[in-house]
Amino acid sequence: MSSDSTANEISELLGSLREHTKFLSELGAEHVEVAEDPVGESSAAVSVVTGSPNYEAAADVNPKAISPPDEFPTMTTRAATIKSAPQDTLFGDLKPPEPSLLQSSETLEDVWRDIGDCTRCGLCEGRTQVVNTHGNPKARLMFVGEAPGADEDAQGKPFVGRAGQLLTKIIEAIGMKREEVLIGNVNRCRPPGNRQPTLEEAAICRPFLFREIAAVQPDVIVVLGNTALRNLLETREGITRVRGQFQNFRGIKVMPTFHPAYLLRDPSKKKETWEDLKKVRDYLDGLRQSQSITRPDNI
Ligand code: SF4
Repeated sequence: MSSDSTANEISELLGSLREHTKFLSELGAEHVEVAEDPVGESSAAVSVVTGSPNYEAAADVNPKAISPPDEFPTMTTRAATIKSAPQDTLFGDLKPPEPSLLQSSETLEDVWRDIGDCTRCGLCEGRTQVVNTHGNPKARLMFVGEAPGADEDAQGKPFVGRAGQLLTKIIEAIGMKREEVLIGNVNRCRPPGNRQPTLEEAAICRPFLFREIAAVQPDVIVVLGNTALRNLLETREGITRVRGQFQNFRGIKVMPTFHPAYLLRDPSKKKETWEDLKKVRDYLDGLRQSQSITRPDNI
């Protein structure tokens, strides 16, 4: 193997490791412990301890020892078992896995308790209350918007204003009840003047949403509008370009579509939204038929 190819492989490996560490830290990883395989089998037990949303810089130095700031309480996420990669690279079984959604032993209440009376970003200053995700903790379908508005800020629940009423109609149009699904936002505090949350504000709040998604493991997430799309998937694509096309969020199908507030301003877009939601309905129906299961306790 030439020194150039070795250098390239090391560079790719470090890039992959950095990306994986970023994913873990967004879930609040405090540190990652890789258990040695005593008999040389091809699997490694990886224990993830959550607590802080962003330790990329620390991971660059030592990804096995990432310390959270004091304000993030430590919580434990269930250990995951990850098959190592085949021995086809310089580092063989050290090659990190593709990012995927970790199973979590947390409940939504655990996440909300951690959020508490949050002051982690500047949006806390103008809000009345934190608006947490709301709905069925066993939901197969989740909706994610941008941030609370005035009605949501007053009532403490997401999507309860006019846009929320339209969202309820959309949910019912695909044969479901609002009580069956989970509804939330990337940011949980109302931005002043209903402005868009900044990238920094979204990055600070987003790990809580990721932890909720890991706890619930919905089959499909419908992401509503441009800002939510960009902040959930960390993409620069616009909603008009990607709506109606399933995307991937760490192994979970994501359907981008227009925000109900936009549909109130431009009702002509309802037709496209309906087409998008039919794809979601058909996908969920297909899953239900192929698995021949209905989740227990689902309403
Ligand atoms: S928007 Fe999120 S991070 Fe910012 S204060 Fe509210 S709950 Fe905390």
